Amino acid sequence: MSTEAIRIVWVYPDLLSTYGDRGNLLILDQRARRRGLPVEAVGVNYDQPLPDSADIYLLGGGEDRPQVLAAEKLRADGGLHRAVSRGAAIFSVCAGYQLLGTSFYGNGERYQGLGLIDLSSDRGETRAVGELAGDVTPELGLPPLTGFENHGGRTHLGPNVRPLASVKHGVGNDGTTEGVWSGRMIGTYLHGPALARNPALADLLLSWVVGRQLPPLDDEWPTKLRGERLAALS
Ligand code: GLN
Repeated sequence: MSTEAIRIVWVYPDLLSTYGDRGNLLILDQRARRRGLPVEAVGVNYDQPLPDSADIYLLGGGEDRPQVLAAEKLRADGGLHRAVSRGAAIFSVCAGYQLLGTSFYGNGERYQGLGLIDLSSDRGETRAVGELAGDVTPELGLPPLTGFENHGGRTHLGPNVRPLASVKHGVGNDGTTEGVWSGRMIGTYLHGPALARNPALADLLLSWVVGRQLPPLDDEWPTKLRGERLAALS
């Protein structure tokens, strides 16, 4: 077993951290440590350069103004582009997810995204708020996804981009698909936080970093919660 630490960067906690998205960092940290894998985690505010050495970059949700500022700063920094080209993983939620695409809306205006994934977001007619449930894209081999969404934007995936899941309840990207899976990048509209509600997704990210499947953990409680949510939504 490698003893090298898994390095996680929480991107711009001062801009992108609504709805408890920091929990995603805690879950990754805990699930790695419980397998004897050390973790070095750091939050990097928007006035600091992004470290180039991380294995996983986490982006959370945010209000429109912080989202626009985060996109500007990340484009200027270039750190996420370098991270993707050297094979690092990115897990992004809501505003953090939208800004990985080519464009998104904030405060009624269109803004340029980072262009890391062929997707774009525009305004929805209504705000999507509530529980979401869906079936994960089969190649990922994960159990059904559940979580909480709260967003005004709608996301349109390019022709060669795979969604993270198909929607059974809720809205997600557009009422049909939810989130994105592209290489080692995952985007989702789920807060809650997403990895606490869907620990298999956390293990997928960790397995990309360590290059092997990880031994299972006791997931009785998140499994019960998922069962309850799915039953309530069906
Ligand atoms: N401002 C974006 C939207 O409403 C993202 C919201 C969020 O991150 N919760 O679509």
